Amino acid sequence: ASAEPLIATRGLSAGYGTQPVVRDLDIEVRPGEVVALLGPNGAGKTTTLRVLAGDLAPMSGEVRWLGGAGRAPLHRRARQGLAYVGERAVFTRLDVAENLRVGRVETARALELFPELEKRLRTGAGMLSGGEQQMLSLARALCRSPRLLLADELSLGLAPLVVERLLRAVREAADRGLGALLVEQHVRKVLDIADRVYVLRRGRIEMTGTPRELRENLDAVESSYLARP
Ligand code: ATP
Repeated sequence: ASAEPLIATRGLSAGYGTQPVVRDLDIEVRPGEVVALLGPNGAGKTTTLRVLAGDLAPMSGEVRWLGGAGRAPLHRRARQGLAYVGERAVFTRLDVAENLRVGRVETARALELFPELEKRLRTGAGMLSGGEQQMLSLARALCRSPRLLLADELSLGLAPLVVERLLRAVREAADRGLGALLVEQHVRKVLDIADRVYVLRRGRIEMTGTPRELRENLDAVESSYLARP
């Protein structure tokens, strides 16, 4: 990835009230790359995504989105091609086809991405399995051709095959130019598709590198960075 970063932070600190939760972060995501953000519970991963999305203001340092350092709120960044996927973002009282329509996503395009949803088009989204709900919310995000995807635990609570399916969809979108930053608990699976990794611990970046570099230390990484704060 040699293009300019879609998003980049310099010395970024952010948190709630007066106390920073994340400090001095230098993070960037370029077009075409999948970047994993790993770390134990409470390390500040969600806080990092929120400040990148424009949902939470920096306390110090900066976030450059599309080269500009101004403070753009989430809805403006969304119009400019930033997609945020958090908890399954589906309307449970609408069926799958209606969810796509409300999201201004062409059904055909969503089914190209996740053919699994075809037989569920008339099913209420509240009746879907967790994996199907997450396919739907990812379809809603990816089919609008975002430049950057920020995803917070896409695979939370899902079966391994579904996790692989979702991550593969992200990888394929990145191969067509999307930049993606994924917060994931499924460390090994996300390392299979990521280009680069940041490990966050107690609000700071403690390690960064390629999946290969991380895998060499994976046992240490898993036990000390992921199991416990
Ligand atoms: P998890 O995997 O548990 O979600 P995380 O790495 O995403 O962890 P954050 O959710 O960013 O971590 O939380 C980091 C710290 O910030 C935690 O101590 C948490 O209690 C605190 N925190 C998170 N959200 C808020 C909030 N809205 N107001 C105050 N403190 C918060």
